[in-house]
Amino acid sequence: MTPTKEQIKTIHDMRERTLIMPEMKIYERYVMPCCGNETNDTPIIENAGEALTQIICRFGCGFIYVENWL
Ligand SMILES: [Zn+2]
Repeated sequence: MTPTKEQIKTIHDMRERTLIMPEMKIYERYVMPCCGNETNDTPIIENAGEALTQIICRFGCGFIYVENWL
């Protein structure tokens, strides 16, 4: 199965981008909605094609549905 548009948007919504000066590089990180921890790794969608978006939080929360935390 491939992720739905809504699932891809949900993952993108978790992303925070920061422009680093003066290097002019964009630093991307993802904020876990469950605990607020940040990671540079793009979260992997575990249930592609379904209504909600399930990912694994590696900071101890385990499997979560992102939508349940918004
Ligand atoms: Zn978490």
